[in-house]
Amino acid sequence: MAGRGWLTLRMPVRPVVIVGEPVLHRPSARVEGFDDALRRLVADLYETMDAAHGVGLAAPQVDVPLRLFVYEMVNDDDVPARGVVVNPMLTLSRIADERPDPDIESEGCLSVPGEHFPLKRADHVTVTGFDADGEPLRFEATGWFARVMQHEFDHLNGLLYVDRLNGKWSRRAKKAVRASGWGTPGHTWLPGVDVDPFGHDDVDDVHDLDNLHGDDARDDGHEGRSSHVDATGHDDRRA
Ligand SMILES: [Zn+2]
Repeated sequence: MAGRGWLTLRMPVRPVVIVGEPVLHRPSARVEGFDDALRRLVADLYETMDAAHGVGLAAPQVDVPLRLFVYEMVNDDDVPARGVVVNPMLTLSRIADERPDPDIESEGCLSVPGEHFPLKRADHVTVTGFDADGEPLRFEATGWFARVMQHEFDHLNGLLYVDRLNGKWSRRAKKAVRASGWGTPGHTWLPGVDVDPFGHDDVDDVHDLDNLHGDDARDDGHEGRSSHVDATGHDDRRA
């Protein structure tokens, strides 16, 4: 029976939970076992991140309350462009006490689909943790790569970037979440199946959009790509 086969098929792209889902708003647990289950989860995180055109994805975003994330971003820090960090710890440089620039410091999140808001982040972080086999890793991250590390690390502590916004941006984000009917449990979207909330189904309609998201940034290796903005005036990276 076809139905039986369907039931046993793996679905590597997992639904992404949306702001309001409890798993996004409480700290996740440390990974204790570097086993096949963890490797399957890592593989699914990569698949889901790729299908969503994301530059990062943390396990709580697929409803798994464990401390790990994957990322995909060419960087100036001699760190592999694609990787996983398990049980990460971050040490941050000082965060500038200035207003964020909406043109070059706007962040997005796959769990707040389609929205972007500006936020100051540390320019430099030291990341320690483990790879999927339990081997220790340590690297420095700067610029947008550092931003992605901070964004993903926050997810493991139950924080979304919209929780960190100041003043009018915080008010606008709350309004956007309410307007979309989010902020309560039970909302998800499925990358590669649902309409891409960040417009990647309509790349032909948006001038030069392809140069702006993570896929392209991987190829050219210029951190400066991160400062590009698309035709609607927002940066196009989210994680
Ligand atoms: Zn996010």
